[in-house]
Amino acid sequence: MAIPISLIVDDSCPLIHVYRFHKEEVHDSPPYTSDGRLLLDTIPNEFLDRFCDVAQAHGMAGKFSIIPVPAGRGDILSGIDGHSPAITREWLDTVKRRLSDRFDFCPEMLTHNLAVNLSEGGYYDEGESPWSQKQDRSTLTPYLTKAMEYLKAAGFDATGVTSPWTFASDVEDEYIAAIVAAQQNVYGRPLSWYFLHTLHDKPASKPWVAFQDGDTALISIPSTVDDFWWQTIDSPRSDQEFVQHIADAVITSDGRGGKIREVLETGGFPILLTHWQSLFSNGLETGLAALDVVGRRVNEVLASEVEWKTCSELMHLTARTA
Ligand SMILES: [Zn+2]
Repeated sequence: MAIPISLIVDDSCPLIHVYRFHKEEVHDSPPYTSDGRLLLDTIPNEFLDRFCDVAQAHGMAGKFSIIPVPAGRGDILSGIDGHSPAITREWLDTVKRRLSDRFDFCPEMLTHNLAVNLSEGGYYDEGESPWSQKQDRSTLTPYLTKAMEYLKAAGFDATGVTSPWTFASDVEDEYIAAIVAAQQNVYGRPLSWYFLHTLHDKPASKPWVAFQDGDTALISIPSTVDDFWWQTIDSPRSDQEFVQHIADAVITSDGRGGKIREVLETGGFPILLTHWQSLFSNGLETGLAALDVVGRRVNEVLASEVEWKTCSELMHLTARTA
């Protein structure tokens, strides 16, 4: 039986380069790459087209985040501040048209930046992750419900949730209860999934049942392969040698080395974590070039061992075998 392999794409959203904004507003660091280049404010729609080209060419599957109120600068329903709403609509249409078959969609909270004050309007003076650690289900449920409502209104079925940073990891039981309640509120769905855990030091990991009560269940989908693409943000290099070097860390050209091989050898599922900014590489798209190489290698040298799966497919598989 082929082992499931899956691609987790975090921080994707129309136009906004969220990393650039939360670096400055949540982490209080200047919006520059570590080698001193200014981080770009926006990611053009053409980059989404090129990501879809790569994902489709290799039959990749997984999940794709849609941040509904990216960096607090507009939202997916009314458009992004300073840009025609048509650009946001076009981005959402492309995602729907080209990724629906083989990717699940999910919100990654509301802003991936400062937490939204739902009762009084405006924003708290802290990021969504630090804010979340002091909450319980009574405040997390409306927050998650709001995030899912945005996706539903934009015509997306959000089958799960992605946690920005380590959102609510200190109150995970409360978070789990809130995810289950929000899925019930918005989509009437008893079975869903969430991504919070990055288990790159536990390569034998597979998804697990985090909560079950009768027919209601929540599946935790962890990542097991680090975001090796991230380093491209901070490098001016985009040459073939650099691209191959990044791909090698994920899977070597003979299939015998790299993190995917380590995960397969220990009996885990290779669940690859990446970020929109890691693939965009501050405009150089070096990360996307490395993803293209990884996709080709998986098909060339691992075709008899692995099979691309969406997060929903991982969820059903885990629920069935639990
Ligand atoms: Zn994120």
